[in-house]
Amino acid sequence: MILYTIHGNGYQDISELDSLEDVTVYVNLTNRCPCACTFCLRQTKEMEEGHSLWLKEEPTVEDVIKEFQKYDLDDFHEVVFCGFGEPLERVEDVIQIAGILKHFRRDLPIRVNTNGLACLIHQRDVTPEFKGRIDTVSISLNAPDAKEYDALTRSRFGIESFQAMLDFAKSCLEYVPFVVMSVVDIIGEEKIKKCQAICDDLGVTLRVRPFEE
Ligand code: SF4
Repeated sequence: MILYTIHGNGYQDISELDSLEDVTVYVNLTNRCPCACTFCLRQTKEMEEGHSLWLKEEPTVEDVIKEFQKYDLDDFHEVVFCGFGEPLERVEDVIQIAGILKHFRRDLPIRVNTNGLACLIHQRDVTPEFKGRIDTVSISLNAPDAKEYDALTRSRFGIESFQAMLDFAKSCLEYVPFVVMSVVDIIGEEKIKKCQAICDDLGVTLRVRPFEE
């Protein structure tokens, strides 16, 4: 399933929808990720057969564009790069796809949901590439400090991941209109307050999401 939307608690291929008007379309590009989060849906949620976001093979840029060509971009509310993996593992492809979509509809809002570790993955600052193509970057902050972040995400980059993720958020601010960091509500009020302080310091918005079993 390359283009999907979230329907109730599940994932639905947008080809199954009666109407695409105002729909948020998610692009499922990869199952690769440098993390192994303890709460990751990839490990904890069973997917309905036929609606799994597990990819047998990654779609090429051409495959994704072909899928989009089946629809009227004007119908869409937003396009979000987000699947069962880290979309910015394929940063060049994300940028290319976003550029093509913007070419056909300049005002189409485009978001990337990310763990914020793309600069570590690619060993370069990827954020300038977002300019003019990505409108919102939503980063999983997860925890208020490096130790807890490391224990939760089990990032293959280890303890330096937390600071790299914060640096990524800061850099995004230069190139992207909206930068959001998110935590889940189950971390508790005290930690949420600390995360809020981190976001205030960076100048980004904190979004507290309800935890999904
Ligand atoms: S960063 Fe996202 S995709 Fe990767 S392991 Fe964590 S929750 Fe799963």
